[in-house]
Amino acid sequence: MLSYEQARNKVIEEIGKRTGPRATAAVSVWDALGLVLAQEIKTDREYPPFDRSTRDGYAVRAKEATPGAKLKCVGEIKAGDTVREALAPGTCVQIMTGAAVPAGADAVVMIEHTQREEDVVRFERAAQAGQNIVPRGREAAAGQTILTTGMRLGYAELALAAQVGAVELQCAKRPRVAILSTGDEVVLVDETPGEFQIRNSNSVSLAAQVRIAGGEAVVLGNAADRVEDLGEKIERGLKEDALVLSGGVSMGKYDLVETVYKAMGAEFFFDAVAIRPGKPAVFGMCQGKPVFGLPGNPVSTMVTFELFVAPAIDLLSGAKARALPLVEARLGEAMKEKPGLAHFLPARVEWSGGAPVVKALKWQGSGDIAALAKANCFLVVPADKEKIEAGESVSVLLRKDVV
Ligand code: AMP
Ligand code: MG
Repeated sequence: MLSYEQARNKVIEEIGKRTGPRATAAVSVWDALGLVLAQEIKTDREYPPFDRSTRDGYAVRAKEATPGAKLKCVGEIKAGDTVREALAPGTCVQIMTGAAVPAGADAVVMIEHTQREEDVVRFERAAQAGQNIVPRGREAAAGQTILTTGMRLGYAELALAAQVGAVELQCAKRPRVAILSTGDEVVLVDETPGEFQIRNSNSVSLAAQVRIAGGEAVVLGNAADRVEDLGEKIERGLKEDALVLSGGVSMGKYDLVETVYKAMGAEFFFDAVAIRPGKPAVFGMCQGKPVFGLPGNPVSTMVTFELFVAPAIDLLSGAKARALPLVEARLGEAMKEKPGLAHFLPARVEWSGGAPVVKALKWQGSGDIAALAKANCFLVVPADKEKIEAGESVSVLLRKDVV
């Protein structure tokens, strides 16, 4: 059985082999959050475009602003003012944050380090040449590439594009990911379940996870645990860029997903992973499309999506697979788990006593959505660990949607 790292690498390798360039579209910078850039963006001029003051204070010649020195203030420069005149020796000029530093001046002294009487400014400490000034072109040269194909556009990347006037961006189209749940007991979320039925919460979490991962969710509803119904709905799902099923991959008599995938020509790369929850997770290619079968218990579905489906969506978006958001923390309370499988336990990590400390939450197993809704991470217990003492260092998989 593959470890979760091996299984994840398998997904990346197999999809990486097969994905060509994505279809692209021009998207407004206002709408491009989370998309993957499909062009290079270059600066339209130098950044900053002028020597920029980073403080409110006085522009000076550094060697003149010695402790106790007095300089005549000959004017003021606001952010946005046109600055053509050089600073005359023996003078200073009041300057605001974001304003252009005049020629001749080589330092800005913070207003907090000066005293002013009428038009005379007294300096309290020695100024260093260059202080509080970002010279023209220091952040980027004119025509420099600042964003490249394959980068994911977060708020900083969008601001950078906006800064250089790139208001329309060529982006990869979001891969369309079909979501299909299975199970005779499952009813739509807006239906009233019978006494022994449950609502289709997996389709809701999966659609959210697809969206966060950068895909477009195409929710296909629920298939009954019958070969014909499953087959029809899988066929519909194969029209999209990838297909994610939940449920029906365990050892039960009515767990038919693998059988039906196989009948439709799927090639599997794994059908079990050494993790709990999520062990029966399935990944293959079917008619040229990546297909997943995730176990139906809601927390299993969520964990296996993060581990195996999210990197697939990265690749299908024209980006590299992002690393798992794993960080290190100290274990808050000693714990024991059965060895053999890596465990992903709903947990909370909090800053405490100068370090991140993680505690597993009480839960009733992988059907317990309420426990995960209280968690901000999964505590990862390695497969070879049986006991972990309080204070030991452990890995934590962050829930990137809430932290
Ligand atoms: P399965 O993987 O089909 O054996 O299902 C495992 C458990 O998850 C069972 O208790 C199912 O009732 C539950 N389950 C399956 N599909 C869903 C779903 N779409 N939403 C919520 N729970 C589900
Ligand atoms: Mg089922």
